[in-house]
Amino acid sequence: MPTFVYMTNCDGCGYCVDICPSDIMHIDTTYRRAFNVEPNMCWECYSCVKACPQQAIDCRGYADFAPLGHSVRVLREEEKATVSWRIKFRDGREKNFVSPIRTTPWGSIKGPSDYAQPTSAAMRSQELAHEPETLKVEALPTLARSRFKKGLV
Ligand code: SF4
Ligand code: SF4
Repeated sequence: MPTFVYMTNCDGCGYCVDICPSDIMHIDTTYRRAFNVEPNMCWECYSCVKACPQQAIDCRGYADFAPLGHSVRVLREEEKATVSWRIKFRDGREKNFVSPIRTTPWGSIKGPSDYAQPTSAAMRSQELAHEPETLKVEALPTLARSRFKKGLV
């Protein structure tokens, strides 16, 4: 379910705005606090929840791990490189679990602007950025035309 922001915790830093792949976290121009402008378009990726340094963003969890009325809080601890989730059920029970969020040191992953511009040939290629080397293969597998189903050639 979509996210929402506790206005009193938010300091308007904008990290959630930058990271939201759906571009629906915006800063209210009057209050200078973030809010989800289009909850129906939320991917529920929780990137904003994990990125918020103020723990200001909350969400309802998926029914499979929090089925009956609950709140979901997240604790982001950069120094430990962990994200901890706390689910609080209506009857007062709590479930706490930690998710490892990366296998490389914090801050060690290069951003897109740290790489050279793709060549025009690369722009026409069907391979995605950094393929095939990041897949640790010499070339992507291809399907021989002889294996196509009749009528699809
Ligand atoms: Fe507010 Fe958190 Fe978004 Fe920063 S990342 S603007 S503190 S909700
Ligand atoms: Fe955007 Fe994902 Fe946060 Fe939804 S959960 S508001 S899609 S960053």
